Amino acid sequence: MSTGSARPVIGVLALQGDVREHVAALWAEGADPRPVRRPEELDGVHGVVVPGGESTTMARLAGRFGLLEPLRDAVRAGLPAYGTCAGMILLADRLLDAPPDQPTIGGLDATVRRNAFGRQVDSFESRVDLAGLDGGALHAVFIRAPWVEEAGPGVEVLGRVVGGPADGRIVAVRQGNVVATSFHPELTGDRRVHALFVDIVRGHLAERAGLDAGDERGLP
Ligand code: GLN
Repeated sequence: MSTGSARPVIGVLALQGDVREHVAALWAEGADPRPVRRPEELDGVHGVVVPGGESTTMARLAGRFGLLEPLRDAVRAGLPAYGTCAGMILLADRLLDAPPDQPTIGGLDATVRRNAFGRQVDSFESRVDLAGLDGGALHAVFIRAPWVEEAGPGVEVLGRVVGGPADGRIVAVRQGNVVATSFHPELTGDRRVHALFVDIVRGHLAERAGLDAGDERGLP
């Protein structure tokens, strides 16, 4: 399979939330975004985005549509995934301040606290310093956002809040092919995190193509 210039196919979980904004940002960054509502729509995607919205609703709908297990299996098998806000909650292995039976897709060895900035704080904007991304601090929009309370040893902290009462809180992380942000880059027009994710998807595809070629030549 050629992975060079072709647009990688990225599924956007389209049960609820800001699906359209992610589709637009992914397209602008060179991907071929496709809404995913049914398990069979995961076939052939090279990465998946879990949008912002309401994580309890999204998890319930994902269960009802038979998507939770296939998503769990795919992410565990290395499918690149990017979650924003409610998507970060859904990708976390452990939750705080969530209903005890709230299921997640998981994949991120982190404890994520829902509505962490305070229930009365509906939304706010802040600068976030993002490790490894050129172009300076990112202007981030938080809407009833979670933060990463505790990150496991394999989790790289990409960004923290700068200033204000939440100064230093972890709001962007990466573990292998899984990326999560508490904030919504899809709403601001700053597409650097989407660009990073499309790069991760391309890298994963290239790696897989190399392995497949090795298989064909009888290499281990
Ligand atoms: N507070 C929401 C939740 O728990 C997330 C908000 C968002 O995605 N903007 O699901």
